[in-house]
Amino acid sequence: MTDDELVAAYAEIAALSGAVCAQCADPPHPPYRCCSQLYCWVAREAALERWGVTLTRTHHEALPYMGAQGCTVAPHLRSLCSLAVCKDELARQPTAVQERYWTLREAIEEAEEKRSV
Ligand code: SF4
Repeated sequence: MTDDELVAAYAEIAALSGAVCAQCADPPHPPYRCCSQLYCWVAREAALERWGVTLTRTHHEALPYMGAQGCTVAPHLRSLCSLAVCKDELARQPTAVQERYWTLREAIEEAEEKRSV
């Protein structure tokens, strides 16, 4: 997988996991309710270490990369967040959605392993 393909795979899985999380019945902010400052710092380190990108902070009080329209970090630069999805909610999705998630995830993890060699 090329880096461009990896970036596209991250974009797709982030959209997929985001759509699954958006169906979460647990209020108050489904799309980003599982965000935490710790994950933001993990994203900062990974973006710099793996892609040579320095993330720009926002003015959000609690989450350094949260903007008015959601997270400001590209999906491939916040890999942990992009892959994260509630397993219970994913299990309630159509089989095709579940299979696509796991196909993408396996491809991404394989590509990341090769990139780190
Ligand atoms: S990097 Fe973005 S998606 Fe990840 S925890 Fe921070 S604000 Fe949320």
